[in-house]
Amino acid sequence: MNIEAYKIYLDGIIQRVETARISLSEHHIVKIVAVSKYSNEAAIKDLYQIGQRAFGENKVQDLLTKSKNLIDLPLEWHFIGTLQKNKINQLIEADPFLFQSLDSLELAKALQQRLEVKATSMECLLQVNSAKEETKSGVMPEMAKDIYAQIKETCPNIVLRGVMSIGAHSQEQKIIQKSFETTYDIFKELEGADICSMGMSGDFELAIKCGSNMVRLGSVMFPE
Ligand SMILES: *Cc1c(COP(=O)(O)O)cnc(C)c1O
Repeated sequence: MNIEAYKIYLDGIIQRVETARISLSEHHIVKIVAVSKYSNEAAIKDLYQIGQRAFGENKVQDLLTKSKNLIDLPLEWHFIGTLQKNKINQLIEADPFLFQSLDSLELAKALQQRLEVKATSMECLLQVNSAKEETKSGVMPEMAKDIYAQIKETCPNIVLRGVMSIGAHSQEQKIIQKSFETTYDIFKELEGADICSMGMSGDFELAIKCGSNMVRLGSVMFPE
């Protein structure tokens, strides 16, 4: 696809986000994070040229490599993958704009310790396993509010901004919707939280209708 055709294609995606958000409220703003985990630096540059600024990676090494190689572009990098404890220092080195996948109190404590040593802080979302799927990371929904409060209380170098969730792995809209509603209900109850990150290429319109204000789009942003 040449850049002109790509622009037209992306306008279609943005229009879908627009329609979903306006069905909720004109005042509901949704941010698109382009998930570049399967894309190379040339593809990221193309998307940047069209106006995209926020990108997400799910491997710390890829985040480091791509953000370093594209240092000349004013990009905003999100980390959205499972973080192994032995990669904490690398994540701090990468200095993401937002770490979306903080998925346990234990990890938060380990991260806090390293942030303290390095005298820095990190903005994070608590990942909630709202569909309660064994294959997914995240805290159980009934524990989420409590764990969120505990992180806030015990981890001063972690700046919690809200929650992240992956929709239920199902063909049934009702089941996916329920998982988004579970996450949104938690989000609403968190004092000071302003980011509810949910929705991927296959379910972002439903996620927005359920209150998501950040969608993480991979395949639809990088077609082919
Ligand atoms: C890969 C990934 C996405 C994007 O997936 P698509 O279906 O390609 O949009 C979003 N969130 C997370 C956590 C991912 O790992």
